[in-house]
Amino acid sequence: MKPNRQMTTRKQNGKNVEEDCNMPVYTLGIASQLSEIPAHSIRQYIDEGLIIPFKLESKRHLFSRNDIDRLKLIRSLIRNKGLNFSGVRALMAMIPCWSIRECPEEDRSSCGAYTENFQPCWEASEKGRHCRNENCRDCEVYHALDIDTGIKTVLKSLL
Ligand code: SF4
Repeated sequence: MKPNRQMTTRKQNGKNVEEDCNMPVYTLGIASQLSEIPAHSIRQYIDEGLIIPFKLESKRHLFSRNDIDRLKLIRSLIRNKGLNFSGVRALMAMIPCWSIRECPEEDRSSCGAYTENFQPCWEASEKGRHCRNENCRDCEVYHALDIDTGIKTVLKSLL
């Protein structure tokens, strides 16, 4: 699988500045500007479980560079591939989390991430013991689909 971007370089006051792509530093307004997606659409993506922003104690959301790439991917799936929110959710639900995380057979039948077909594992009603206390935002499954890959690419790397 293609790893999530770790570092990028951006210009600041004429100088090149290194930026950690996983660091949540952008407010909703800035993420909206950088992704060119209206803030109300980003809120919809969050409500639909397509993106998990970093949450501050104040309940405000922050976004990283990788989150901005993910927002663009979601918009591309909707605009260019003709998917609606349910379609994007179903696509994300096809990522075989049980295989990527090597969940034991005996845990699978009681895990919603394995048994529920049309929602991403991070939205599962009941998660198995491997995932119960995990932060899905940091999980390789959550990051398995990126701007350059489809589900087929993920499956080819596993099968
Ligand atoms: S930790 Fe979260 S994103 Fe990762 S496999 Fe489990 S439910 Fe899915």
